[in-house]
Amino acid sequence: MLDKFRYMDGKERFTPMNNLLPQATWEAVMYTHYMQSAKIFANTRRPFWNDVENGRYKMSVTLSDRLTRGTYLLDYAPSNGVNKGSGMFLSYTWNDDSLKFLGDRSAPLPSHVDLCTTLLDTVYADTQLNLAAEFGMVDPFIEINWENEPFYLCAFKMNLPGQYEYQRLLFSQFMSGVKEGAPDGFILSGDDISWTGGWAEGGVTTALNAVNKLAVKFGGGTIEHNPGPIDQWDALQPLQL
Ligand SMILES: Cc1cc2nc3c(=O)[nH]c(=O)nc-3n(C[C@H](O)[C@H](O)[C@H](O)COP(=O)(O)OP(=O)(O)OC[C@H]3O[C@@H](n4cnc5c(N)ncnc54)[C@H](O)[C@@H]3O)c2cc1C
Repeated sequence: MLDKFRYMDGKERFTPMNNLLPQATWEAVMYTHYMQSAKIFANTRRPFWNDVENGRYKMSVTLSDRLTRGTYLLDYAPSNGVNKGSGMFLSYTWNDDSLKFLGDRSAPLPSHVDLCTTLLDTVYADTQLNLAAEFGMVDPFIEINWENEPFYLCAFKMNLPGQYEYQRLLFSQFMSGVKEGAPDGFILSGDDISWTGGWAEGGVTTALNAVNKLAVKFGGGTIEHNPGPIDQWDALQPLQL
């Protein structure tokens, strides 16, 4: 998205934005690899999968190599929050598998929900599963294809083999200007520039780095016995190959 922002408001914006990062870091931004993902969710009237017939559950979490790939069952009945109820991810997929759920599905094509329902009814033929009868009555379905959402380029960053140097540059960007005694105020953070793309942990750790940078920029720092990432950078920085 950062790369796309450069081209949004004509040449006047391009030049100042271009100056925010060195060319090598822009290259790392441009080559960031994103992983596609799709989720197809159905609200259910009740957690029907807990029904036991002839010693068997009606249905369980279902992982397979079929179109649905991963089907997950969610029962929020014990929740203390405002959102209760039950539902199922008919399908949760990544990469090539999620691309199978892209594209317009208006009639006469069956919906993706229909495809998943038929598949799962077939897999659970012996328990006589009839999923259509279990879905909620009012607007029970949601499908999200992250590669199709505005301001997302897919679900999350996932480095490809050989991208270590790009990753090192992005992660280390928060240190720009620090050694020179002139820390700049443009700071990259978020799981996309962390070593653990796709996990909230990377969002948190890179945010801590950014906050430490801001403290230093505005003349602050960390307390003596709790050194921040900038104080420890020489010892802990990623290896430069
Ligand atoms: C399908 C999916 C499943 C996931 N599963 C897991 C999981 O099981 N476990 C896990 O740990 N992580 C999971 N993650 C990853 C996790 O959601 C991210 O790592 C985390 O949300 C990243 O946090 P962040 O603060 O870096 O970015 P974000 O959470 O994306 O926050 C960025 C924020 O900036 C806002 N924003 C953007 N542009 C602007 C602007 N110009 N002005 C103001 N605000 C702006 C956005 O609206 C957003 O709220 C999953 C992600 C996806 C997509």
